[in-house]
Amino acid sequence: KVRTRFAPSPTGYLHIGGARTALFSYLFARKHGGEFVLRIEDTDLERSSDESVQAILDSMEWLGLEYDEGPFYQTKRFDRYREAVKQLMDAGHAYYCYCTPEELNAMREEAMAKKEKPRYNGYWRGRTDTPPAGIKPVVRFANPLEGKVTIEDGVKGPIVIDNKELDDLVIMRSDGTPTYNLTVVVDDMDMEITHVIRGDDHINNTPRQINILEALGGERPVYAHLPMILGEDGKRMSKRHGAVSVMQYKDDGFLPEALLNYLVRLGWSHQDQEIFTSEEMRDLFTLEACNRSGSVFDDKKLEWVNQQYFHKAEASHLGAALQPYMEKLSIDTSKGAPLSEVANILRDRAKTLVEMAESARYFYEAPQSYDSKAEAKQFKQASADVLLDMSTRFKALESWDAASIQSAMEACVEALEIGFGKLGQPLRLAVTGGTQSPAMNDTVALIDRAEIEARLLKAIE
Ligand code: GLU
Repeated sequence: KVRTRFAPSPTGYLHIGGARTALFSYLFARKHGGEFVLRIEDTDLERSSDESVQAILDSMEWLGLEYDEGPFYQTKRFDRYREAVKQLMDAGHAYYCYCTPEELNAMREEAMAKKEKPRYNGYWRGRTDTPPAGIKPVVRFANPLEGKVTIEDGVKGPIVIDNKELDDLVIMRSDGTPTYNLTVVVDDMDMEITHVIRGDDHINNTPRQINILEALGGERPVYAHLPMILGEDGKRMSKRHGAVSVMQYKDDGFLPEALLNYLVRLGWSHQDQEIFTSEEMRDLFTLEACNRSGSVFDDKKLEWVNQQYFHKAEASHLGAALQPYMEKLSIDTSKGAPLSEVANILRDRAKTLVEMAESARYFYEAPQSYDSKAEAKQFKQASADVLLDMSTRFKALESWDAASIQSAMEACVEALEIGFGKLGQPLRLAVTGGTQSPAMNDTVALIDRAEIEARLLKAIE
């Protein structure tokens, strides 16, 4: 049975790269009817925080990336890691190392002088001397000295590393806390992970982890390393490039499903299709179709994807998604048109929910001011006459709907012998305060008749 995991370290918010890793692991599990596990790698006590854990959980929830098991916390599993270290020591796969920081530094300098990679030289490996007093040892893994590690990476293809390249890394610090490369192996093993899908910043850890795993008698999962997400300058995406936190995209007014759709395409493709339903994502996703090189994050394209989702969304879904953004602007939507109907006519005019909320204000509140340039042109005497005539006709309407309002507007321009613009522009300004809105009849129909009356009279007073 396929089991994947997402294993973030809670040392900050969930960023875009992490979200994509989570998504790919999630899709792969779903596609194969498997399970998706969330594991919080919080062993770095200095850098981990509860706020970061919460930010990760909130982001996963907002994105709808449901996990079947977890969240597991590595800090709750220290006993298990100690047991694994003991197992390795007992079997001769690990040993105490008493080197002082000075000795390690000297080793590093020696290697640098020889223009070699700085590495631990294995001094305490197999040594039976009496350990120096007063030094708390670390535990190092005795990496195999011979042979190669051959990896068939699910995304990158075959990778071969000589064991000579790998030094004996610390698996337990002198304070008894385990290190990342140990915990990840023990957990992937205990949690029966079959596919480790993660960023390729971990690719150098993989052969080391495989050696530890094999020493523990674990079964090797498939590893699949996803290339980095890059900023427009081709460098690894970071704060310098603007928003990188998933929740920032929420605040900026993106639909979670649009962000997921954008992310799935960032590093994976299916022919030239851009928009996928969640079922399509799940059914079509394969590791083989993931890109082998980095992809550049493109804000404009994300906005475009968001607009595609606005376009195709159910009005009720869009209205519900818009509601919190209205609240953030302190716009009371409890009286007035259902927000879903407002969202329905604004959907093709906004790039984000923030923009949509801003332009939805006039459905619930009379304009506080008028676009000043437009006002100078619009509310002259001629326009006042038009609006007065229009308001009389609105008052006389039998029913208040877009079609009747349209007929009344047509009757008005006909009676006054004016072009449609001579009515439409001042009417729009009076009702919305601005010069941009959906079709006037649709807009007016969503606002209470008495309120329209009041706005027209206020404009010409
Ligand atoms: N905790 C690691 C990180 O946040 C990921 C470990 C893994 O996926 O193997 O980078």
